[in-house]
Amino acid sequence: MERTASPGAVHQSLTDGIGATPLVRLDRVVAGIAAEVHVKAEYANPGGSVKDRAAFAMVTAAERDGRLRSGGTVVEGTSGNTGIGLAMVAARRGYRCVLVVPDRTAAEKIALLRAYGAEVVLTPGTVPQHDPRHVRRLAERIAAETPGGWLADQYTNPANPLVHQRTTGPEIWAQTGGRITHLVAGVGTGGTITGTARHLREVAGGRVRIVAADPATSRYSGGDGSPYTVEAVGHYLHPDTVDDEWPETYDPTVVDEFVRVADGDAVRLVRRVAREEGLLLGGSAGTALVAALQVAADLGAGDVVVAIAPDSGRAYLSKYFDDDWCARLGFVDAATGPLVRDVLP
Ligand code: PMP
Repeated sequence: MERTASPGAVHQSLTDGIGATPLVRLDRVVAGIAAEVHVKAEYANPGGSVKDRAAFAMVTAAERDGRLRSGGTVVEGTSGNTGIGLAMVAARRGYRCVLVVPDRTAAEKIALLRAYGAEVVLTPGTVPQHDPRHVRRLAERIAAETPGGWLADQYTNPANPLVHQRTTGPEIWAQTGGRITHLVAGVGTGGTITGTARHLREVAGGRVRIVAADPATSRYSGGDGSPYTVEAVGHYLHPDTVDDEWPETYDPTVVDEFVRVADGDAVRLVRRVAREEGLLLGGSAGTALVAALQVAADLGAGDVVVAIAPDSGRAYLSKYFDDDWCARLGFVDAATGPLVRDVLP
């Protein structure tokens, strides 16, 4: 169906465009599955990810509480989507924004943060949590030492899960007409799964099953914490530290079931979904979708599975969508084939 904007529908601010993301039903990759499987397309947020919701909510709450005032500085330690969301909101609201970023972060990501006017401070990404150079420790220090500095701290900030309880959960409930039976999401800070699940519990009790999709070695689902490839989800344990602190924003009691997902399966599925559904998704969406398809395979018609797709595959063209990168990690095999088959003239 063709769609046009409603007459007079003007956003007074870019931030009015955060949320109300589409729910998209999968078609081809679900062949043989009776249940409906839907993707909550969080890449449709203006900064390109689910973290726009948390960034906007954290800034708004800090303004309301007087912790962030005119002329203030937004500070966070992040290499990823939270940084983009905060840089975008800070630009719109006229705050200075300082982001502490691990030094191995892709050049494109750093360029993106700088494009929004954020100041980027690089620090080693491989130091343990108690080291003063650690991303979060350095961000804390910069926030404390900068007059008017405010640390967003997505790992402890209650506005992070709360925004999903107020927006993501109600959207999914309304978009499925209250028919959702299974929510599938990854856990990074845990804000998305915690807040969304809390709303679904409020409206549906235990009728909606909450499934956490976790990288195979992540601590959240009982793995040993050894490194894995998919970014921004799971909990990795630094080899030089015994710290195993989980974010306050993650409430593990909301989870009914974990599905552990191997990196290769997540990567192969996002490559398939791009080609077969026309949906270009990031790796953590792949992790969620592998779990969603696995859960859905055992369900029947009338069951409705919703998987959260936190961001787009555009940020990962040189990784998951690069044949050489995939081949090096052993993710592309004869069954999936290379991404591009060159046709010579
Ligand atoms: N996937 C991606 C790509 C993300 O950026 C994040 C946020 N860290 C997540 C998943 C996890 O979301 P949450 O922090 O709400 O658990």
